[in-house]
Amino acid sequence: MEKFDVLIVGGGPAGLSCAITLGSANDRFEWSKNRKYLIIDNEGGSDLMKALLNNVPGVPKGTLGKEFLKQLKEQALEYENVKFEDDRVVKIEETNDGFKVQTEKGKEYLADNIVLATGFHEFNIEGLDVEVVPNITSPRPGKIMIKHDGMFRVKDGVWVAGNAAGCFTMVASASGSGVHVACDIMSKWAGKNVVIHDVPKGK
Ligand SMILES: Cc1cc2nc3c(=O)[nH]c(=O)nc-3n(C[C@H](O)[C@H](O)[C@H](O)COP(=O)(O)OP(=O)(O)OC[C@H]3O[C@@H](n4cnc5c(N)ncnc54)[C@H](O)[C@@H]3O)c2cc1C
Repeated sequence: MEKFDVLIVGGGPAGLSCAITLGSANDRFEWSKNRKYLIIDNEGGSDLMKALLNNVPGVPKGTLGKEFLKQLKEQALEYENVKFEDDRVVKIEETNDGFKVQTEKGKEYLADNIVLATGFHEFNIEGLDVEVVPNITSPRPGKIMIKHDGMFRVKDGVWVAGNAAGCFTMVASASGSGVHVACDIMSKWAGKNVVIHDVPKGK
């Protein structure tokens, strides 16, 4: 069974932004070498597919949400340590060897860390003991979120990001929380606070 350092459930802006930040640390530090990341996304399910974007910082006004999502996915997959599977996670069990993840297509993976970026419509992954509560920021009733400690940590080895974490349903909020989770995971590995910054060559 293939094992990943981080398995991200959900490939909307939260999950993809988390993967981009994790992928960008590859080979820069001893602790980031040879890390492997997998996004499993029930493709087509992101709320962004229905959006026309006029207010996402840095994104040209009038961009279709689905075009932006495609760009984010391409950006994540530029990092060779990031993989993407179009599938739906149905079960996550805690084992002695990490989290065992099962999908609708019958695939199984192991992961040391899990990021839940599944949006705010429903949460029906079996096996993982998380608390699903009413969403605190949704403008519409009946939406859910996963309870966390305020820093997106759900329990040891499990984080939540985006609308599933109760972020305001704006692309920048969802993306920002995914990046936050990535930095928190890397900080755990490094044993100190970590961000990934680049500067132009020669500066
Ligand atoms: C009509 C509309 C217009 C909008 N317009 C704007 C706008 O103009 N500006 C703005 O900033 N925001 C806008 N938004 C909000 C924005 O789309 C959301 O805030 C954003 O998509 C949330 O990102 P997310 O990653 O948390 O969740 P999502 O984008 O919903 O992604 C969640 C992903 O997880 C997947 N998933 C869920 N469960 C599983 C599972 N078990 N296994 C595998 N995959 C799973 C889903 O299929 C989906 O792909 C709009 C939303 C809508 C609906």
